[in-house]
Amino acid sequence: MEKKELIYEGKAKKVYSTENGNYLIVSYKDDATAFNGLKKGTISGKGVINNKMSNIMMKKLEAEGIPTHFVEELSDRDTLVKKVSIVPLEVIIRNISAGSFAKRYGVPEGIVFAEPTIEFSYKNDGLGDPLINEYHAKALSLATEDEIETIKKYSFRINKLLKNIWSSCGVTLVDFKLEFGRLPSGEIVLADEISPDTERLWDSETGEKLDKDRFRRDLGNVEEAYAEVMKRLSENS
Ligand code: ADP
Ligand code: UDP
Repeated sequence: MEKKELIYEGKAKKVYSTENGNYLIVSYKDDATAFNGLKKGTISGKGVINNKMSNIMMKKLEAEGIPTHFVEELSDRDTLVKKVSIVPLEVIIRNISAGSFAKRYGVPEGIVFAEPTIEFSYKNDGLGDPLINEYHAKALSLATEDEIETIKKYSFRINKLLKNIWSSCGVTLVDFKLEFGRLPSGEIVLADEISPDTERLWDSETGEKLDKDRFRRDLGNVEEAYAEVMKRLSENS
């Protein structure tokens, strides 16, 4: 299938319509942003890595019974996906304290939780993606109770699966963000991407950060970190 019209340009991807109204083509860019778009830059080669990595992960999750939007990788940067109506909630699962969690609650990064946590942000750039709870999400009709239950169930299962995949690559999955969408049938499926842009990944031995925090915090070797996790994943799948 081919790109018809650019329907949306986001911070990390372009989204195109196709001749079939049920499908979209997402095209991964090298553009990087952080702090709600305040910091902007380029991570050379990121689009290719995120496209490939996200597709590997979506395929692995599908094989384990998680429905996803993935259809077919079309090229280095382009993937055919099922068009969904995105549930405007960013779902964040955490295994270890880091980032905004550490800041919000005044704790150091690196506390290993006995059980994973889940939180939701209202996906709304104008408001800066504020933290939201399930009652607020229902009150704002962002999702139904059943949809929220399904999203939670899938998210914790995805965490177990991703943790195992990364662990066999010598990588610790600290936290990550997921987005879900509705197919025309109403079925909830995993959408968007799974990549070092959306996951915190630490080397299991050294604790070295191998994700977008290298860009956010100006730690250097950003491209190298993306390439390293991609290499380890390719070698282990
Ligand atoms: P952002 O919108 O946060 O800048 P991106 O640059 O990644 O993010 O843009 C991709 C957009 O496409 C996001 O808004 C995401 O919610 C949306 N999206 C991802 N997968 C699908 C899908 N299968 N159907 C429809 N929209 C999708
Ligand atoms: N995350 C994301 N998109 C967002 C916000 C967060 O992909 O808009 C990911 C982020 O990469 C990290 C996890 O979600 O893996 C938790 O992020 P956190 O809430 O700590 O926020 P941040 O430190 O990114 O502000």
